[in-house]
Amino acid sequence: MKVGTAESVPGEVSTGYLSVTTLPTGQPEQVPVIIVDGEDPGPTIWVTGTIHGDEPTGMTAIHEFVTHIRDKLLQGTVVCVPIMNPSGLRTNARTSYYHDEDPNRYFGLQSGTDEIPPSVQRLICERVYKVIRASADAVISLHTSWIATYPYTIRPRVTYGDHREKTTAIELRDRIVELTDAFGLPVVNQFGCDETKRRSLDHTLTGAAATEDGIPAFTPELGGRFVVEQDVCEAAVGGLHNVLYASGMVAEPVTVSAEFTLPAENDLKRSVHPHTDTAGIVRYRVQEGESVEPGQVVADIVTPHGETKTQVRAEHPGYVLSRYEGVAVYENDPLLDMAVPDDESLLRKHPV
Ligand SMILES: [Zn+2]
Repeated sequence: MKVGTAESVPGEVSTGYLSVTTLPTGQPEQVPVIIVDGEDPGPTIWVTGTIHGDEPTGMTAIHEFVTHIRDKLLQGTVVCVPIMNPSGLRTNARTSYYHDEDPNRYFGLQSGTDEIPPSVQRLICERVYKVIRASADAVISLHTSWIATYPYTIRPRVTYGDHREKTTAIELRDRIVELTDAFGLPVVNQFGCDETKRRSLDHTLTGAAATEDGIPAFTPELGGRFVVEQDVCEAAVGGLHNVLYASGMVAEPVTVSAEFTLPAENDLKRSVHPHTDTAGIVRYRVQEGESVEPGQVVADIVTPHGETKTQVRAEHPGYVLSRYEGVAVYENDPLLDMAVPDDESLLRKHPV
């Protein structure tokens, strides 16, 4: 296969660039591509990193994974794009600097249906996604979250209806469950259906792949942003290896030394919760990875003098995934990303 200037050679690692647009200063904007091609044919798995430019752990995990896998006997192909958002990486920013847009909201959108021409970031996403969807048997989009984050994997919800038979959707769901389990981090289902739609998360890379195109896909959150968390990076390298094992691409699984677990019996889902109704300075009483009971005080909101104004309690049981960054909070600001019991099904009829 050929992706940009990277051309696969059986049994070898090939590198190159995919040009995605032209910059005003004349140079092409390019994303780096690494193709690890096995001696024998098999599935094609895409692994992408740093679509948010301030999330370098995904990029580094890909670099280390390529080193790890290059001498192994491989069936099939791994295509890596370690830097999906080169402009965001240059500025250490989540968004791209062309128009300050979030690149991970523009996948699977149909161009030409709007009156307004698509922005350059949207065009870049369309161009990259066209190449991905043409060959991907699975897509793994490596991310990180807020600075204080316990690593976890987001599992997209799978739909059936006019666009997809229920039996096909069940197979897709089961495959996503198998691959996310193989990756090894705690698994948290995507937000509930309404919130997923409100946040345009069906147009993230993995949302579009799973929801629109029926490609097994998921999104690991490899700890916090800005710095590479080495233990999570190592867990991701082992996780990627074990996804290949679950896909019949390598002969043996590997044991991952860094263990991250949330000991839940039933499915969990993402929830931004709780919020503070009082402005002030936040002092957390919990940290990432901790379990929380309903009614438990998770934070105090204090005055500039350090006196407690109010206590913020969790309404749901669950686990702390992230504490929000910064100490100054305004009315109704969120305080935690949590994993709470999932009251919806991972498989859903669409439209409901
Ligand atoms: Zn991200």
